[in-house]
Amino acid sequence: MRIAVLYPELLGTYGDGGNALVLQQRMQLRGQRVTVQQVSLGESIPPADLYLLGGGEDGPQRLATETLRKNGFARTVKGGALVLAVCAGLQILGESFAVEGDLQYEGLGLVDAATVRGGERRVGNMAVQIGERVLVGFENHGGETRLGARVEALGSVLRGFGNDGHVDGYETEQIWATYAHGPVLALNPWFADHILSVVSGRELAPLKTVADHLYEGRLTSLGL
Ligand code: GLN
Repeated sequence: MRIAVLYPELLGTYGDGGNALVLQQRMQLRGQRVTVQQVSLGESIPPADLYLLGGGEDGPQRLATETLRKNGFARTVKGGALVLAVCAGLQILGESFAVEGDLQYEGLGLVDAATVRGGERRVGNMAVQIGERVLVGFENHGGETRLGARVEALGSVLRGFGNDGHVDGYETEQIWATYAHGPVLALNPWFADHILSVVSGRELAPLKTVADHLYEGRLTSLGL
């Protein structure tokens, strides 16, 4: 399995690159080799089974968007690529997003979602109900995201704000997107395994690592 982390120098301010390490470790504990490629600005986008986009401040987010546009990432996704996108990454894949001093910045237009400037910055712990499971994480963003009719939210907000105080992120056949940092996959091993089973196309044997125990404790401390 090949995982590509796109522009970690721009989209990695909250440790989101750790998502790649979690995926790699959980697959290797099951005897499967995973390569992680950090793709820097100036490098072309390599073939990969999963692309990771992390969070970032407004300026780097804009530069990352232009670089993704120039390097044809929209074509890569339209060609079937799978993507996990966090916060700025979530905003970039939509139709447009607002950044300081620029209220309508064109996204990659891959998802029917638009991000506007919110009334206040949303900072704090969050929890999201996704089917029977709960995703926990930490959010820090000024944007609020409105989903169009052609896309489903990833889940509904139990704690924190997410896209709009009601739902968080979105999910398409190829993309998982959330506002949750943490890194989100370190905090939510079940979500890492869900993504790995889709990427690998098979059921995975359950794992019980310290991360899985810590996840249970996190739910308890949130009263969930
Ligand atoms: N710059 C974006 C915002 O503030 C995304 C922030 C982030 O990735 N944490 O809304």
